[in-house]
Parts: sequence; structure tokens; C-alpha cells
Amino acid sequence: MTAGCVQGGLPRTPGIAIAIPGVDNAICRIDAVGPKIEEDRMTGTGSKASVYQTVVRQFERAADTVKLDEGVRKILSTTKNEVIVHFPAKMDDGTIRMFSGYRVQHNDSLGPYKGGLRYHPAVDIDEVRALATWMTWKSAIVDIPFGGAKGGISCDPAEFSQGELERITRRFAFALGSNIGPEYDIPAPDVNTNAQVMAWILDTYLSTMPPQERNRSVHVVTGKPVEAGGSLGRDKATGQGVVYCIEEWAKDNDVDLSQTTYFVQGFGNVGSWTARLLAPFGATLVAAEDHTGAIASADGLDPEALTEHVVKTGGVVGFPGATPVDHETFLSTQADYFVPAALENQITAETAHLLNVRMIAEGANGPTDLDGDRILGERGIDTIPDILANAGGVVVSYFEWLQNKRSEFWELEEVDGKLRRRLVTGYARVRDAASEFDVDWRTAAYIVALRRLERMMRRRGIFP
Ligand code: NAD
Repeated sequence: MTAGCVQGGLPRTPGIAIAIPGVDNAICRIDAVGPKIEEDRMTGTGSKASVYQTVVRQFERAADTVKLDEGVRKILSTTKNEVIVHFPAKMDDGTIRMFSGYRVQHNDSLGPYKGGLRYHPAVDIDEVRALATWMTWKSAIVDIPFGGAKGGISCDPAEFSQGELERITRRFAFALGSNIGPEYDIPAPDVNTNAQVMAWILDTYLSTMPPQERNRSVHVVTGKPVEAGGSLGRDKATGQGVVYCIEEWAKDNDVDLSQTTYFVQGFGNVGSWTARLLAPFGATLVAAEDHTGAIASADGLDPEALTEHVVKTGGVVGFPGATPVDHETFLSTQADYFVPAALENQITAETAHLLNVRMIAEGANGPTDLDGDRILGERGIDTIPDILANAGGVVVSYFEWLQNKRSEFWELEEVDGKLRRRLVTGYARVRDAASEFDVDWRTAAYIVALRRLERMMRRRGIFP
């Protein structure tokens, strides 16, 4: 069902379908839920229904526990808008390729939609729905005035030159048109996107604006390069937030971080920054894995040197002094904690029994599925859930957005100090909810988010 359709540069017009000859095709739903989508949700027949099903079941468990208002429950259990754009881009050899891009907006009760853009072959509407929904809970837990959104392009960026990536990105931004905006929906980096990608989106968006409006629209994306309006500390923010959570867990459990060992899956933005920021505490990184394979060293891997190696060679494999290990051996690493910082569904019924750790700090979104959660619980392994542990990125995105709106530029110490306060407060809220309701930390994190949203939505009521 298509309730409304929006093309690049045109105003959003709920309830009206617009077809423009010669312009990218866009299929979008504005304030409506199509029957196919409901069917996917109920039966799990979507192409990657398990990720979204995981979100729905996590939500239902927390909503039941907290006896969430029925109306609020109905609204939050569906996404608000879903946009799919099919657009062309010119390749270096002169040929044209078509791409499919997505933007899902889950909820905007607390503020503008906010969430990253991912470039990966596994990107599809179901994954993006799940990621958009997690963003709503994340912002609510750390109490920032944003809603939840996510997007991406189904593609393998390793296939493309920089020039091709730039043209793909610019055409995607143009196709999204007014479905993003500085006070409406603000993208940021995610898997396989970075500050450069955000700079291209910024430039494309501003180029479609009247000149008088350009300078007050720089906050249309966050995670920009510092030279293009980005914030100090945004690059490391998600890893920094993971480390603040690990510090809090260590205090609560009387653990001396300098005596701890850990391993990391994914050595991109989140994984590498987590490891680099744990190094000053004296914690030892004993294994790492990325899309090229896994490596281990009982003596420890130097996070700075490993980061340089990944930049130079494209992956962790071949790092001097490390032993290559297979995936199962990697997951079985004996350590104090594990930081998954790659993709979804890594800790499952098949893998959860392999883990030999006390705690998991989820840098990635959705690394643990429902069976994984159950097995970790039975085995007494603590989890600091994704919607708390990796919220540092969206917090500093919020700081960047504020700095752009106010034409300010904050020092790194100010950014880090404010980030720490948000994360430590969020951590305490989740810990308190876990003990008040006698539930696991993931359910507790949902409870914190749902109560915050319920308070707001009950006050505002429903139009008309
Ligand atoms: P990135 O693209 O910088 O890094 C992704 C890493 O995952 C790479 O090292 C890649 O090699 C690895 N990887 C990919 N497939 C893998 C596989 N099959 N097995 C093992 N490793 C694999 O992405 P990122 O920004 O670091 O994001 C990582 C996770 O953190 C994602 O779940 C993302 O949604 C989440 N996250 C990111 C941010 C952020 O600010 N970037 C914020 C919150 C959450």
C-alpha cells in the first residue's frame, strides 16, 4: 500500500502519490502501515525477518513487564515511515548501475528522526526497520531529544572506487530529498560509511537548497569531518561510550581493569576505538576478528599498531606476532569480556555456549539474538545491551547537531565530559530498572526507554 510518495526536493505530502517522469522511482509510506509489512512482522516471512522479529519480541517482553499503555504500545510497535528509493549511478567505465536505498523512520515523539546509514550487501527493509527501532530506544535511554531512524544502500562498497562511491552517495542523498532534513531526519555514519560519506551528503543536500538556507542546514547530517562542521570526539564516541560502560561495570563488580583480558569482533570504527581507549587502563586485547578472519595472542595485541595494520592492509589478518585462529576458536577465547562490534546475530543458539567470559559489552547493534540472550542468562554471563553500550555515537551526534545550530565549537574535554555524564546516568537508570523489575539488563534498558516515551506520548495525546 502506498499512502504517500516523496521525491528529491519536493515537500513531504502525506496521503498523495506523486509520480515524476524521469526522476528516481521512490516507493514510500507516510504515516501508514501496509498489509504486506504487517504480514511480514506477524509471520516472519520477510527476507531477514529474524532481526526485526528479535526487536519486536524484545519490545513485547519489556512492554508486558512494565504494563505499557495499550495505545502507546500499538504506536511503538510499528515504524512510522518507510522510504525505498531505486536510483542510478554512473560507474568509472561509463556504464550505469541501479541501486536500492532505504530510510526507515520509527518514531519522532522525542525529537527529529536520527540514525545511521549503512552500505552493506545484507541491507534490506527488515534490517533497516530493526535498526531504526533500536535508535528510538537508544535516544530515550540517554535522554536526548531524538527519535529513531536508520537507512542504507544494499551494496558491497569494496567493489567501488572512491569516485563511484561519491556518485552513489550523492545520488542516494538526492533521491532521499526532503525525507531527510536538519530538523526532520538526520543521518550519521554506520557500517562502511564514514565522515567522508557524510560530507558528500551534506554538500549534495546543501546544493539543492536556496543559497539563503544553506548555512542554517549544516546539521542535516552528523559525524561530519571536523573541517566540515563535525564535532571533536564524534569519531571515537561510540567506542568511548562502550568504554564508559565497561568502567561502570568494573566499579560495580569490583574488577580491576588493568588485570582484565578481552576480545573484539569487528575492528572498524567501534571495535578499534574501544580497544584503543581501553589500552590506557592496562586491559589486554587477546583476540580480534573482522571480515578477513580472526587472530589471537596470549601476550596481547597492541590496539594502536593493529589499527595501523588494518588501515594499511584492509583487515586484521597478517598482523605481525599474532596467530591466525578459526571463528569457533575465536569465540571460545578465555577472557573477562567480549566486545562484539561488527554485525547482528553473532551470539545465537549455535554460538552462545562457546563464550568463556564474564561479560559482553555490545558495541554492535543486535549482536545477540533471542536464543543467545537466553543461553547467556542461563550461563550467568552479564550483558551490557547495545541500546545502552553503543549509545555514545548518537549522544555526540546530538552534541554536533547542537553545536551546528548554535554556531559553536566545543573543546574535546567538554564533549567527553558531557558524554560520560549521559552514559553513566543511562547506565545507572538501566541498573536500577533491572533491580526494580528483577529482569535482565536488556529488558531493563527497554523499560527505561518505554517509560520515557510513554510519559511523553500520554502528555501529548493523539491527534485529532
Ligand atoms: P565499520 O564499517 O567501521 O566496521 C565494521 C567492522 O565489522 C569491520 O571491521 C568489518 O571487517 C567487521 N565485519 C564485517 N563483517 C564481519 C564478519 N562477518 N565477521 C567479523 N567481522 C566483520 O562499522 P562500525 O561503524 O564500527 O559499526 C559496527 C557496529 O557498531 C554496527 O553494528 C553498527 O550498527 C554499530 N554502531 C556503530 C556506531 C557508529 O557510530 N559508527 C554507533 C552505534 C552502533
